[in-house]
Order: sequence, then structure tokens, then C-alpha cells
Amino acid sequence: MALIVQKYGGTSVGSPERIKNLARRVARYKAMGHQIVVVVSAMSGETNRLIALAKEVMPEPDPRELDVMVSTGEQVTIGLTSMALMELGLKAKSYTGAQVRIVTDSAFTKARILSIDEANMRKDLEDGNVVVVAGFQGVDEQGNITTLGRGGSDTTGVALAAALQADECQIYTDVDGVYTTDPRVVPEARRLKSITFEEMLELASQGSKVLQIRSVEFAGKYKVKLRVLSSFEEDGEGTLITFEESDNKDSDNMEQPIISGIAFNRDEAKITVLGVPDKPGIAYQILGPVADANIDVDMIIQNVGADGSTDFTFTVHKNEMAKALGILKGVQAHIGAREIKGDDKIAKVSVVGVGMRSHVGIASQMFRTLAEEGINIGMISTSEIKIAVVIDEKYMELAVRVLHKAFELDGI
Ligand code: ADP
Ligand code: ASP
Ligand code: MG
Repeated sequence: MALIVQKYGGTSVGSPERIKNLARRVARYKAMGHQIVVVVSAMSGETNRLIALAKEVMPEPDPRELDVMVSTGEQVTIGLTSMALMELGLKAKSYTGAQVRIVTDSAFTKARILSIDEANMRKDLEDGNVVVVAGFQGVDEQGNITTLGRGGSDTTGVALAAALQADECQIYTDVDGVYTTDPRVVPEARRLKSITFEEMLELASQGSKVLQIRSVEFAGKYKVKLRVLSSFEEDGEGTLITFEESDNKDSDNMEQPIISGIAFNRDEAKITVLGVPDKPGIAYQILGPVADANIDVDMIIQNVGADGSTDFTFTVHKNEMAKALGILKGVQAHIGAREIKGDDKIAKVSVVGVGMRSHVGIASQMFRTLAEEGINIGMISTSEIKIAVVIDEKYMELAVRVLHKAFELDGI
């Protein structure tokens, strides 16, 4: 007997029929003697609908109030899922995040999980219940409802698996595993039988939304056995996230490719602070107020100074560009910057692979491939297993396709 957490995404709970289908799978696992915790997202499109509704009333929605309403999507699906399970004769019990006591910090719309009280769930499981938990939501110490950021149900699933020391966390979605890149953009993309945790972390952080990055972080920290699977197939093997590179041999492949995957992200915007004095403390003066406003910064570039002044560029989430620009305009005179510009027509494309550690020339191959298509690179950042570039948004899909081919990821 195993304890398994199964997380179902929006498409997988997108209609009553699909919820019934989910319930049938859970029933099969129960019949094998397993204890099951189900984590569900809102029905597909529902979270977007709720956010749009909020914006009709308040164009920049108050974050606390936004979380109160956006979290309702998942409250609907936990009830429906429990009912579908009961209709099959199973015992089921639903929990909102607050009812579990998934305690988070108070960073509304992007809260982090601080602790999970697993005692009640464990008791329900021992009493033979399927426990059904709302993804994406928690409660802060003051009792405010919080949400974990888009895609946050993945993180609920993995965090519950960690708290309950589950044997496996299964992420059921609308693709049958993790692919070399988003199969909706590159139809030739291949499913990976396994991928290392480090690579998955990079892919997720670079924008592959198949798993929310925090879910991968949790899996790494607590060594949760994590698998991505299709909710539309009976028994696919999906993609296993592994912790050892040696586990990661695709048995179909004699030679492991150097690059495992390509990620892209259209959600970032670039902010450039032009003509700032080239002196100690300037980076802090620019990014300090941005960080104080709880705005996450991704890539950062400072040019080599000339004539005592320099330019400073960084990226933030598109949703936060206006806020970041407002903050910087407020300190522009103090910093002594000539001009502050924002550009949200950018995209980031990243190639990821542990094979980069032992191979040289990956960056030059990437840059040559982009140059051959006339794609200009605006920013570059690297890690040991990743090279990321910022390019014009309109070339993003082209860039992903040509890189996928150049790095021999296209399916055979
Ligand atoms: P869910 O609602 O189940 O959480 P998501 O839409 O959040 O599903 O994530 C699944 C989607 O992620 C897929 O439909 C696919 O378009 C996209 N995706 C992006 N990158 C990848 C990748 N490397 N492998 C598989 N899917 C990917
Ligand atoms: N419903 C939330 C979203 O659409 C959380 C999730 O699906 O993971 O982002
Ligand atoms: Mg998702």
C-alpha cells in the first residue's frame, strides 16, 4: 500500500465528464489498496475569467481581494470532485487550503507555503477517505486567504506529498509528460522518459509552465518522487523527475543529447535605466526600491561605463512593469538617471541541459543559429546548465523551432 498524491490541472477537471473520469482513476488506485490525496485546480479558463472579472471592477486589483475571489475556482472543483468520488461509492472529503491549514506568508497573489498541518488529512486517509484538497491556495497567519501564483496547484500537490511523506506525487495534465519543448509550439518535440531535477528546475524557472517552479523546488528539497502524466491516458509512464544524472538515460537513445530542453517565456518585460553615474552603490539604489516593493527581478545587466556614466537593464514580470517604472521614476532624480524606459515586447528563450557541463561551444552554436535567422539578442544570461537570451517577442516561436532542430531535439 502506498500513499499517492495526484494533482489534476485545469483541463483535467474542465467538465463534469472529466471530473468523473478523474474519479474513476482514483477509484482504480483505491482498489489497489493505495491511500490517495487528490489536489485539483480550477476548471480550465476559470482563473483567467475571475482575474478578468476583477479587472473590470478595479483595473489594478487589490491583491488581497483578488486572492479572495480567485481562490473560489478551486473551491468549486474540490466539492465537485468529492461528489464524483462519492457517486462511485468512495468515501471522500474536501478541504480548502485554509481548512487543511496550508499556512503561507502574506505575499498575496504569489504567497509561499510556510507550513502544512497534515494531521487531519492523515486521520481521514486512515478512515478510508480520499482527501481532496484545493490547489493554489493557503491562509496566512492572520487568517487571510492567499494564492500561490499561477500554476500554484502543482506546488500544493508537491508540498502535500512532502508533508505527508507520500510515496509519489503524480501531476496529471493535458500532455503525457515533459517534452523537449512545449509541443504546442514545436510539434516535433519529444517526450522525455526522465529528466533530472536540476534540468526541470531550470526549465520551470525559464518559463516551461508544465510545472510551477516552486513545485520543483519542493520536490528537490524534500526528495519527493515526482512524475508528470496525461490525465487522458489510462496507463502512460509519463516523465519521471530524477535526482541522479545516471538515472536519466533515455533507453531509446544511445547517446544522451547535450541539451535536454528549450524553455521560453513571454511574461517578462525589460526596464532600462539610462545614463546613471558609474559609481559604487548604483545597482543597489536602482534595485533596492524595486525589491522593497516585492517585485521579483530576473536578468540584470550593467554595461561597462563610459564617461563616468552607464546603463542598467533588468527584467521583471510584465504585470509588474508599470509598478516598477513608477517606483524608478520616483527615484530618478535621486539616482541621477537620464532616462527610464520599459519594453514589454520581449521574450526569453533558454536552452537547458546538464550535458553543457562537459561540452564547449553550446553558446556559440546557439548564437550562430539565431544569427542565421537574423534574430537579434538583447540580453544574455548563463548558468552551468543553461543559456538564456532575450529577443524580440515576435521572433520567439521561430527561435524555439530553429534551436530545437539545431540541437537535434526534433523527434525521429
Ligand atoms: P495544467 O492545467 O494541467 O496545470 P498547464 O497548462 O499548466 O496544465 O501545463 C501544461 C502545458 O504546459 C502543456 O499543455 C504545454 O502546452 C505546456 N508546456 C510548456 N513546456 C512544456 C514542456 N517542456 N513539456 C510539456 N508541456 C509543456
Ligand atoms: N488555477 C490556478 C491557475 O490557473 C492554479 C493552477 O491551475 O495551478 O493558475
Ligand atoms: Mg499548470
